Amino acid sequence: LFIAFEGGDGAGKSTQVRLLADALESAGREVVVTRQPGGTPLGAQIRDLVLHGDHVSPRAEALLFAADKAHHVDQLIRPSMDRGAVVITDRYTDSAVAYQGAGRDLGAVEVHDLQMWAVGSLVPDLTVIVDVTAQEGRRRRGEVHDRLEAEADAFHDAIRHHYLAMAQGSPERYLVVDGTSSPESIHAAVVGRLASSGLL
Ligand code: C5P
Repeated sequence: LFIAFEGGDGAGKSTQVRLLADALESAGREVVVTRQPGGTPLGAQIRDLVLHGDHVSPRAEALLFAADKAHHVDQLIRPSMDRGAVVITDRYTDSAVAYQGAGRDLGAVEVHDLQMWAVGSLVPDLTVIVDVTAQEGRRRRGEVHDRLEAEADAFHDAIRHHYLAMAQGSPERYLVVDGTSSPESIHAAVVGRLASSGLL
C-alpha cells in the first residue's frame, strides 16, 4: 500500500502523515514514513541544493527533484512495498507537476512524463490533497523557510488550482480534504476513504 499526501506549503500534510502512520501502526501494520524531496541521504543533499541554492534555473529544479524521486523509489519506496510495508510519503510526483509544471510554467505534461520516467511509473494507491488557499498557507507557515515558500501568492494559487484539476480528472486516485477542517476530521476522512476503497 502506497499513500501520498500532497498540497501547498502550510496545508498540514505532515500532521496527517503522522496521524495515519500512528493509526496503521496501532493496527499492526509496518509503516514507512518518508518525504520528498529528501527521503534518502542523497535526496537530503538534493533537497538542500534545490531549496537553499542562490538560484536554480526552473529546468534544473525539475530535474533535481526528479533525480531525488528516482533514487527514493529505487532505494526506499519499492523495497519497503516489496516486503509488505505501507509507505506514506509527504509529497510525491504531483508536487513536481504542480510546482514545476504549473507554478514554474514548464508544462504539466512534460513534467509529468519526466516524473513518471523517474519513478518507473509507480503511482500511489491513494493521493490525499490537503487543500488550503494561498493566503491561508502563507498565514500558517509564518516565517519563510526556503526559496519556494518565498514565492508570491499567485505562484501558490496556480499550484493549488493544478492540484484540484488533477484530482478532478482522476477522482478514483485522489481524495481532496479541506485543510481548514480539524486534523481529526481530516484524518477520519482519510481512513474512511481507505476503508471504502478496500485499501485497508
Ligand atoms: O513540504 P516540504 O517542506 O518538504 O517541501 C519543501 C519545499 O519544496 C517546499 O517549499 C515545496 O514547495 C518545494 N517543492 C517544490 N517542488 C517539488 C517538491 C517540493 O517546489 N516538486
